[in-house]
Amino acid sequence: DLVEAESLSQLRVRKPRSSDEWSDLSDHINRLLDKIDNYVKNQKQFVEDVSHELRTPVAIVEGHLKMLNRWGKEDPEVLEESISASLQEIVRMKGLVQEMLDLMRADHVDVDYKDEITEVYSTIRQVFNNFVMLYPEFQFYLDIESDPDELYVKIFRNHFEQIFIILLDNAVKYSTDRKEIHVAVSTSVTAVRIAVQDFGEGMSAEDKERVFGRFYRVDKARSRDKGGNGLGLSIAQQLVKSYRGEIWADSVLHHGSIFYVEFPTLTDTRQIYKSKQIAK
Ligand code: ADP
Repeated sequence: DLVEAESLSQLRVRKPRSSDEWSDLSDHINRLLDKIDNYVKNQKQFVEDVSHELRTPVAIVEGHLKMLNRWGKEDPEVLEESISASLQEIVRMKGLVQEMLDLMRADHVDVDYKDEITEVYSTIRQVFNNFVMLYPEFQFYLDIESDPDELYVKIFRNHFEQIFIILLDNAVKYSTDRKEIHVAVSTSVTAVRIAVQDFGEGMSAEDKERVFGRFYRVDKARSRDKGGNGLGLSIAQQLVKSYRGEIWADSVLHHGSIFYVEFPTLTDTRQIYKSKQIAK
């Protein structure tokens, strides 16, 4: 009870009463300093990564504007191509900025959305059906293992959807000839597991771990062509962690991947009732 902290801004320290408590306090402070040091390093790295990621689209737009300036007035072909290429890069940048904001916000959600609950099956069905509609060239399969009426998780619905959308989006993006996506939902007494499987590019064993890193792409050029920034999975992972869930992947290069997420489910009906009341 010497140090109380839900967050840094709410840190409270009581005056130590014994030499043991003084040494406890020094331990606490050292651990805190380590955390702050890590955090600062992490932020610095992030700023570096972001600058690096933004440099390419900015350079492309700059190149096109220079061309426009030089030849665009006389040559309608240059004019059209430069404008459309610049616009495409700007749309990309806009997406990148949005994803970076999402990533920044993803790590303190449990404080902001503490009382939010989401019904798993209806949310999954809704997102799933949107994908069926969006990608008619794909075959989608949804397998819900045990289907009681309702199943709740203590997660803000938008975040639950966002995680699922990131995995489905990737399954579509990295599919190759076999355009087939399987979603499986299974439950244990205390958790729900969602698996999203594709039969596309797959990944090597090392990449399976690395793909959750910020801006990491197995094939930079290819992912860029598909509109990827390398942030989707890091956003998903950050969100999942914030809700005390787990996310991981199984994959075989050139054969496909399965991404899994697992969350604790709400078993206490009183809590579900209370959260529903708050939501109203
Ligand atoms: P991106 O915007 O590049 O898709 P992600 O963070 O979502 O960013 O994914 C990071 C990288 O992981 C991708 O660039 C891709 O190389 C790899 N990846 C993600 N999902 C899959 C998948 N289902 N199959 C194969 N590779 C994948």
